[in-house]
Amino acid sequence: MRAEIIAIGSELLLGGVADTNSLFLAEELLKIGIEVRFKTVVGDDPKDIEEALLHALGRAQVVLTTGGLGPTEDDLTRKVIARVTGRRLSLHEETLRAITQRLAARQRRMTPAQSSQALIPSRATVIPNPAGTAPGFFLHHKDDRHKEERALMCLPGPSMEVQHIFHEGGRALLEAFVGNAARGTLVRRRLRTFGLIESELDARLKDLYAAEKHAVLGLQAGVYGVDISITVQGRHPASAESVAKRLERQVRDRVGEYLYAAGSQTMEGVVALKLKAKGLTVAVAESCTGGWIGQRLTSLPGSSAYFEQGVVTYSDRAKVDLLKVPESLIRQKGAVSADVAQAMAEGVREQSGADLGLAVTGIAGPSGGTKEKPVGLVFLAVADKKTSVCRQHLFSGDREGIRFRASQAALDLLRRHISGK
Ligand code: ATP
Repeated sequence: MRAEIIAIGSELLLGGVADTNSLFLAEELLKIGIEVRFKTVVGDDPKDIEEALLHALGRAQVVLTTGGLGPTEDDLTRKVIARVTGRRLSLHEETLRAITQRLAARQRRMTPAQSSQALIPSRATVIPNPAGTAPGFFLHHKDDRHKEERALMCLPGPSMEVQHIFHEGGRALLEAFVGNAARGTLVRRRLRTFGLIESELDARLKDLYAAEKHAVLGLQAGVYGVDISITVQGRHPASAESVAKRLERQVRDRVGEYLYAAGSQTMEGVVALKLKAKGLTVAVAESCTGGWIGQRLTSLPGSSAYFEQGVVTYSDRAKVDLLKVPESLIRQKGAVSADVAQAMAEGVREQSGADLGLAVTGIAGPSGGTKEKPVGLVFLAVADKKTSVCRQHLFSGDREGIRFRASQAALDLLRRHISGK
């Protein structure tokens, strides 16, 4: 079944605000077998909104709008929907009561503009908004232009509200419209890799792209590494599941140790689990990442079980004073070198008494690079009681990108070290 999402709001056309609602909605619709074929962004102009709506109703059976349901002057969606679908707007008492109560709880009184949010096109189903004042609504629409009935769902703009309304009422209404029989199912998997670039992964997975008829394999590269998505569409959940499982097994075989996580897991989440499972603690010494690794490792609840301490040793003096890196080593090799990275990892481990020491030193740029040591050069080291190992990377991107990639690579080095890879 074909769908169109119309994102309404002039702010979305001015460059400052991205239409993220349609990303969420497209993903949710796919899960219930509704395929988004078009997305439109339109400003707060009633003529433009009307044109977009008529166009969408002409080419899609399911149309979703977000934005323009609030109490301000530029919130015009409800009026246009009423006009296009030939309905009257009438006051929905229950919604009016809910808005009054919500405002009273914040010691605010209802203004006429706020009460306009309770105006709903006749015969529409109201979808309550537990996170805000303007509810969503859903209606069936039929006109002379089209044989098939259309489903139209209108949601407010704020993302939190869109998500609440969709989960707590919107999805069920769409499922009923689509009908269970026609719906089919969609299975999604995400496997996360670090250390191989997109073309290297592509070469490993090439023959799997067409291996399953109803499955799509995709690669998404970013600062986190390259994520592999597996999407299987099918009539029955069990068969789609088994295709996804088969494909996942094959992908895992090809990717091996480069695979660090699955689904919504993060690198720091995986490292934390591994440290906890082995009862190990870690201390971190950071130079060019400025504390980013420590921040990521402590972003998880219960991190005190494995995180001993983090120090940001930016200057040479700090490396000497706090980590006992020999001054002569810095003079000879430079602060950005394999030897200094290793000495930092050993130093922070010894000074802190942690089981493992992790260190990073590099040139994040944009200035400070030389021919021998260009911007993006990063040394990472991990040390345990017996030994230490070092890795050299040359990252591309701007300062922010290089710093994040360095933190990701450092955590990956730690992950591999704990797993003995
Ligand atoms: P409100 O009651 O907040 O006025 P509304 O339904 O009128 O709700 P808008 O005024 O259009 O919604 O947008 C409210 C806020 O929601 C905007 O400031 C914008 O930041 C955000 N927003 C609107 N549309 C989108 C979108 N498509 N994706 C992400 N955020 C959005």
